[in-house]
Amino acid sequence: MAHGVTTLATLKLTKEIKMFLYRMLFYLFMFGVPSVSLAYDVPSSYRFPYMMQDPDTGQAYRASYHYSGNTINYFVEPSAQHFDVEFNGRRYPFSTRDLLEGDSVTQGVLSRWNNVIRLRRTNNMSEANLVIRSSRAPAAGPGAGALAIGTSLGYGTPRASRALIEIHPEQFEPMRQRLETLEQINRYRFIDYEEDYQLLNTLMLYTITHEFGHVLGFSHSRMAHSCIEQSSILNQRQNAPLMIGDLTDYFLVQYHLNNDTAVSIEDIRPSRTELAAYQSANQNGNQFECGTVNRAAGMVLRSEF
Ligand SMILES: [Zn+2]
Repeated sequence: MAHGVTTLATLKLTKEIKMFLYRMLFYLFMFGVPSVSLAYDVPSSYRFPYMMQDPDTGQAYRASYHYSGNTINYFVEPSAQHFDVEFNGRRYPFSTRDLLEGDSVTQGVLSRWNNVIRLRRTNNMSEANLVIRSSRAPAAGPGAGALAIGTSLGYGTPRASRALIEIHPEQFEPMRQRLETLEQINRYRFIDYEEDYQLLNTLMLYTITHEFGHVLGFSHSRMAHSCIEQSSILNQRQNAPLMIGDLTDYFLVQYHLNNDTAVSIEDIRPSRTELAAYQSANQNGNQFECGTVNRAAGMVLRSEF
């Protein structure tokens, strides 16, 4: 008897689920693909900082130890001193030095990283511990299809004697098309720009600031739902993890974290958690601990959306 009741209930439930699914299909058909919601987007993409392990000590990578004198001496290969990017049918010039050190209009990469390390330009390749170059992306393997790659000093086999940032200017046009498609699907503009060059500037600044994070010893941040640093209850602009491994993920998370407002070039900087991770690793070699972030806030975010 009990068995029969269970079966009936199960049947009824199955029917209801089916009806629900049909209804959902109908709504999807009527209104198109739903836009990305905070519920889906933030919990699935929010990740905590992760420093690479130091091959010498087994602890977190310490940039201040590897770059002697706590200084990055950077050398720009001629190909990268001034380079052009073709974007939506036009050609835009960039200066690597301006990107790193800033110019009269735009804040540079190092100050976005809170000047955690000193930066010095050198024209002498032999005293450089960071080399910046520009080339086409490799056709296959690591860096294929990427806007740029960044590696830190002391990594690889044999260990790299210098860090590297390699910019791939021809990859920005495919990224523009990808973003355009994403904005059409989602029906909102999640990057704040009016002219193409503003969009390109924002993408370029993001790319170099992110690669500089690799030079400082960051791996891509990892998923950790309990490590959300603060909730969106606080009424101030927040920073998504800069070291999210995917550019579109980064901009989407940054957009949703700030109550669906378009991301501006001023937003591009590491999150407070990332800066804290850098400090923690460089002061005592510890991996960043989730315990220092607000777990309660994370719970609110997960259950509310
Ligand atoms: Zn990366």
